[in-house]
Amino acid sequence: MASKLQAVRGMNDLLPAVTPRWHAVEQCLRAVMERHGFAEVRLPLLEPTELFARTIGEVTDIVEKEMYTFLDRNGDSLTLRPEGTAGAVRAGIEHGLFQGQLLRWWYQGPMFRHERPQRGRYRQFHQIGAECFGSPAPELDAELIAMTARFWSELGLGGLRLELNSLGSREARAVYRERLQDYLRGHFDLLDEDSRRRLDSNPLRILDSKNPALSELIAGAPSLPDHLDAASREHFDRLCELLDDLKVTYTVNPRLVRGLDYYGRTVFEWVTDALGAQGTVCAGGRYDALVEQLGGRPTPAIGFALGVERLIELLAVSGIDPVQPRRMWYVVSTPGPCRAQALRLAQDLRAGDDAPTVLVDHAGGNFGKQMQRADKAGADVALILGEEELAEGTVTVRLLRASEPTQRRVPRDAVIATVARLASEEAS
Ligand code: ATP
Ligand code: MG
Repeated sequence: MASKLQAVRGMNDLLPAVTPRWHAVEQCLRAVMERHGFAEVRLPLLEPTELFARTIGEVTDIVEKEMYTFLDRNGDSLTLRPEGTAGAVRAGIEHGLFQGQLLRWWYQGPMFRHERPQRGRYRQFHQIGAECFGSPAPELDAELIAMTARFWSELGLGGLRLELNSLGSREARAVYRERLQDYLRGHFDLLDEDSRRRLDSNPLRILDSKNPALSELIAGAPSLPDHLDAASREHFDRLCELLDDLKVTYTVNPRLVRGLDYYGRTVFEWVTDALGAQGTVCAGGRYDALVEQLGGRPTPAIGFALGVERLIELLAVSGIDPVQPRRMWYVVSTPGPCRAQALRLAQDLRAGDDAPTVLVDHAGGNFGKQMQRADKAGADVALILGEEELAEGTVTVRLLRASEPTQRRVPRDAVIATVARLASEEAS
């Protein structure tokens, strides 16, 4: 016996029982982003490994230990994308799109990180994200953050909290970095292995540690906002003002740093207590230096990404079903020439955007059996084609969810109107 083949650990199959929920969420968010002028980009899942090392940063969880990296048949090092920003920046530079005008991009799709699989943390997971290129204005930060706030309100989700911070300028961070190092060196014995390693290379990342044993130490660390440069302070104050004005509620979290190196100034996360340890649903920030750092024209930018699995889980634990019920009609027919009629009827009824789902019974058997399947499929209308209907050019329309059995035999071209009339009679 061959051994059973299974999906790669941490990589999930999304089966028909769940995909309607995914579609509903994706459609909702896409509509909100379109209303804000964002256009979709679809970029490769594979990029040169160097791209991620140079953007995300060598001393980060992602680049140090989470990437799926391999040599292809030419011996080139490629990596399955762990996030979407690096590829977006690469594409913008490659196509010469950073010319000073404002670009609003969004993307969605799978990301890959070799993490320990657990609730809300997978090795293939999905993000929906957006990137804006071409403006340093705090108004843009505010608009983008307000857009994410609108996601939750349109989905009917309460209980997500917005945390906000500013990382300041590169120079201000350098000063802060030394202060932080001094503090942490003074408590070297309390640091875990990861933090000791990062103490020299990337001490800010220690603030982002998930290790609860470090939380007290981190709480006592010098505060990043106390070290902000004047321009970043002004940017941040203005952003707070604008969010107040837009009635987007936030809390300033001076420890919020984000796990990627490219951020500066604004960083934010949407967090919930309803998902256990993996409580960050959406995260983003400014990365004004990144485009230039990768060889493009200086182009200030800000973006975010949200974890679709976490968002869908949050909807589930909040008791929200985003799926709009679809009307479903089910065609049952007697064997023989009625079958072709059934196909043709279904074909006609499916025309147009607002057409219902129309299923044709293909398993056969008597009407009783077929009606049982109609019921099981969740149909609300059965359309019956027997010998008599075939001879007359009619169809019997039966409402399956009506309080009393309701059916009418009507000409084929009156089916749609008849269903509508019976349904409204039933409703009244
Ligand atoms: P975390 O701190 O939870 O590891 P992160 O800072 O690594 O998150 P980002 O790189 O900012 O995450 O990605 C943005 C969002 O993508 C996260 O807020 C989260 O919702 C989602 N996400 C990140 N990694 C995973 C994963 N392994 N599985 C599922 N969702 C994830
Ligand atoms: Mg992570």
